[in-house]
Amino acid sequence: MSFTCQAARKTALSFLSALLLFTGAGQITAEAEAGSESRSESGDAAGKKAEPTAAQILQERYMLCQEISELTQVPWNYLAALDQYERTVTPKSKQERLKGKLVSLNPRPEFWAGWLNPDSSDTHPATIALFGGIGRDADGDGVASPDDDHDALYSLALYMKSLGLAEDDFQIALWRYYQNERAVTRIRQFAKLYQTFETLDLNKTAFVLPLSSSYSYRSTWGDRRGFGGLRIHEGTDLFASYGVPVRSACYGIVETKGWNRFGGWRIGIRDIQNRYHYYAHLQGFDKKIEVGSPVIPGQVVGWVGSSGYGGPGTSGKFPPHLHYGIYRDTGHHEWAFDPYPLLKRWENEERRRK
Ligand SMILES: [Zn+2]
Repeated sequence: MSFTCQAARKTALSFLSALLLFTGAGQITAEAEAGSESRSESGDAAGKKAEPTAAQILQERYMLCQEISELTQVPWNYLAALDQYERTVTPKSKQERLKGKLVSLNPRPEFWAGWLNPDSSDTHPATIALFGGIGRDADGDGVASPDDDHDALYSLALYMKSLGLAEDDFQIALWRYYQNERAVTRIRQFAKLYQTFETLDLNKTAFVLPLSSSYSYRSTWGDRRGFGGLRIHEGTDLFASYGVPVRSACYGIVETKGWNRFGGWRIGIRDIQNRYHYYAHLQGFDKKIEVGSPVIPGQVVGWVGSSGYGGPGTSGKFPPHLHYGIYRDTGHHEWAFDPYPLLKRWENEERRRK
């Protein structure tokens, strides 16, 4: 290792110890990930250290990604995307182990220790290397621990670049790691979001219609569909006039755009929480938007219409409205949940900001 590498490593390590002191007092919870800014800033009477705010956690994580990127040449946005993907597919039951940690990487034991290693929970760098595992000791404590933020991110970064530093190489490495095309797609989408906006703080939201427009909606989760058969209604219908702008609720990447027999002209946007936002029955789209385009909260993506329930271009079979649905990707499948409470929240938050 060259002198500059050593120096960089030392910087990274002192940074890490400061970080551990910093995060040790607090607990990183899923709530923090949701972008809640309401966390207590002050300690209690017993003099406990203040918990870091959600924004502080994101900033520290961003710095860790930068540090590991400098050590490994793997772009920081890919490291952040890998970590964020893992966070979004970690089931609630397993989130306990993430408390107090900055990254949520969860390398499979056989990858970490090596496929033929008889000890799948091996943390000895020498035997891990002997069996071809990816686990490395990055912080110099003699232990290669997948539960250590620095060891985990550094090891995965080295694995990511084992086939090269081009985007195609990363994709092959990711495919080998996950054996799942969806995971690779998500990580690419997240990497693009981070690269575009150069921050991890992508939780800002907007209401899906302009507050100044005339619209109405109510909670109809689970109601029978008014149109199109007996499937339950997976979403909320927001009634408004033709041509009212439809806005992205979030930072995201356009994942689908075009005609769907039921949804008509519809657009689907993936956010950094791995949620898919679905806007259907549009009159048309903003021409600048294509699959793969990044969007920001409040950006106009299309206009309210009544398209759908037939071949391309069919419209007017029901009153104009925006059908808005939201789905969560668990890594294996996607499930719809009731968007009504979120819509209400976004609407109220935006009203307060005005
Ligand atoms: Zn609907």
